[in-house]
Amino acid sequence: MSTLVLHLWRWQQCEQVLRLRYPKHGVLGALGISRATHRSLRDEQLHFPELDLKSKNDKSLCFFHRHDAKQVEAGHFHFFQHHQPEDVHLLALALNWHGWPHRLFSVNRWVTGETWMPATQTWQHFKKWRIRTERRWVDAWRVCEHMDRSTQDLPLVGLWLESLLACLEPQIKACLRARDRNLADWIDRKPGVNLLEDQSLEVLSEQSICWTETAGIVDR
Ligand SMILES: [Zn+2]
Repeated sequence: MSTLVLHLWRWQQCEQVLRLRYPKHGVLGALGISRATHRSLRDEQLHFPELDLKSKNDKSLCFFHRHDAKQVEAGHFHFFQHHQPEDVHLLALALNWHGWPHRLFSVNRWVTGETWMPATQTWQHFKKWRIRTERRWVDAWRVCEHMDRSTQDLPLVGLWLESLLACLEPQIKACLRARDRNLADWIDRKPGVNLLEDQSLEVLSEQSICWTETAGIVDR
């Protein structure tokens, strides 16, 4: 089984359970978001889940929120991985209202206050990003399957995201490389300015995702 096929299969396992539970919004439903109540929400301070999704050792973290969302987008996840003195931010991953990935984008350092690393190093760091405690994915899945329904949603979201990030490795790397290239261009255009703190530069690169194509989903 190729790596992509394996991660896709894992993603589909999580997706199936989430979709049964939340037919309309999938993973968004598990996070407590619905189009009816959150359509016009623009408060970026509101995180879903409220206290963020964290690994037990606090090394990996993500949250979903809404600000500057495009019409088709429900909002986006921000992913962080522990690092001293500041955490590292991977990218933001926007979902459409169906609860599927729509686009990736990178933000400038001042937005998330992170430790800045070049593309390759940033991705290396995120190979360790996971919410589960179990060493093996299959064990985490088994534990999750036997959980009480009321506590199952967030561990499922963690597994869903972990496999999704693995599936999106080429797109993530491309988006990070574009970020570094664009930043280098800006350095030429604005010599002497600390661009990482330049508030006029917020989003540094974008990468659209055709998830139905990547996942081989037939949209009905
Ligand atoms: Zn954001």
